[in-house]
Amino acid sequence: MEKLAVIIPAAGSGTRLGSRLPKPFIEIGGKSILERTISRFLKIDCLRQVIVATSPEYVPVLEQMFSSFSNSTIEFTVVEGGSERQHSIFNALKMVRREIELVAVHDAVRPFVSVENILQCISVAEQVGGAVLGVPAKDTIKKVNSEGVIVETPKRAQLWQAQTPQIFQKALLGKAYDIAIKEGFFGTDDSSLVEHIGGKVKMVEGDRSNLKITYPIDLKIAELLIQEEQ
Ligand code: C5P
Repeated sequence: MEKLAVIIPAAGSGTRLGSRLPKPFIEIGGKSILERTISRFLKIDCLRQVIVATSPEYVPVLEQMFSSFSNSTIEFTVVEGGSERQHSIFNALKMVRREIELVAVHDAVRPFVSVENILQCISVAEQVGGAVLGVPAKDTIKKVNSEGVIVETPKRAQLWQAQTPQIFQKALLGKAYDIAIKEGFFGTDDSSLVEHIGGKVKMVEGDRSNLKITYPIDLKIAELLIQEEQ
């Protein structure tokens, strides 16, 4: 397997969750969400580097967390996050080591990703260039205009909800970010930047338990899932 780095954007606020503490640092069952997320990736043999983007006041928290992992084959790096997720990842990409071949981006607030799904994405990214974990849309999705009037109902059978990890060949992701930043192109995920430059990305069917802890209801579900695990 190709050598992997994982970038974990963790610089978001807790606004939608109604919390003063940023989401990744909220503890569930005695451990922060971020620590749980990183632990999932530490089970991947080809992992060589973990880069976390966070706000400056959380750098000491991160350093403490990294020392608790103590893994000699993996380098842990912390970088300052940006105003948008995309800027946080752009900063992190500059720290990716030369020998790395594949770069995964994984939201700090998705602590339930399975090792099996990460391995599937690695394998597809090696073959195709890019891989995104996702699930078929369960709701009908509507496109609305600025007045809230529905303008389009895309066929649900073709719609997928994109999750993370999103894994790419290093050169492809680097090029996509360079061009996006230069052109001022914004996307809410990494794949959209790669798609923008014509890169091939394949969807890998994942699991609905890989939820993104965003709203208070997600935190309640996360607590239940962790209770079940313990
Ligand atoms: O806000 P959103 O749901 O897109 O956040 C997804 C991930 O990106 C979270 O892990 C969050 O911490 C991170 N993020 C970031 N820098 C920002 C905004 C969000 O690292 N400026």
